[in-house]
Amino acid sequence: MEIKSAEFTISSSRADMCPKSDIPEYAFIGRSNVGKSSLINMLTKNPKLAMTSSTPGKTLLINHFLINKEWFLVDLPGYGFALRGKKMMEKIKNLIEYYVLEREQLTCLFVLIDSRHEPQKIDLEFIEWLGENGVPFAIIFTKADKQSVGKTRQNVNNYLNKLKEQWEELPPHFVSSSENGTGRQEILDYIDGINKELKEK
Ligand code: GDP
Repeated sequence: MEIKSAEFTISSSRADMCPKSDIPEYAFIGRSNVGKSSLINMLTKNPKLAMTSSTPGKTLLINHFLINKEWFLVDLPGYGFALRGKKMMEKIKNLIEYYVLEREQLTCLFVLIDSRHEPQKIDLEFIEWLGENGVPFAIIFTKADKQSVGKTRQNVNNYLNKLKEQWEELPPHFVSSSENGTGRQEILDYIDGINKELKEK
């Protein structure tokens, strides 16, 4: 798939404010600083589409972007927000939970994991929760350019082995770099494949 158009549609502070339409949605989530905004900008080839975490307030909202007038790319708030205080943490948690569990248009949730790190409890628990709730998801290992190809492969394999302790079947997974565009075509083609399947139904 090539991106012909990417338009910001709406920022929602509540899941029930999200667009009312039956367009399929592909959402992106991960811990703050995992590289989510950079990835969205890289995928859409628009360096400013998603605001980075340093933009005040932006990270507490669900942002919808209409791609090729065909599907929504959804930027969800980051999790792992220990510094934000308990009340804010609850608010973001509710927002994420409501969207992920109740949004019928959600077609695939991309969970972003920093490819440099050992598996982290917060991410593993989140993935486990997705499994328990039957949420369709895929994993994107980000920032691959920050280390050698061999080291990335080793870390990704480590991660998948960790997931195999709990899962019979591994989720689809991708390796990305927003610096050099690694993974861009694979991720877009994956989305395109699902969109085509949905259209045939
Ligand atoms: P977010 O909080 O998940 O939206 O993360 P950002 O996209 O704002 O990225 C956090 C930091 O990581 C920024 O300093 C980015 O420049 C950097 N970053 C994000 N993705 C990559 C990547 O693929 N490669 C490299 N080298 N740096 C990245």
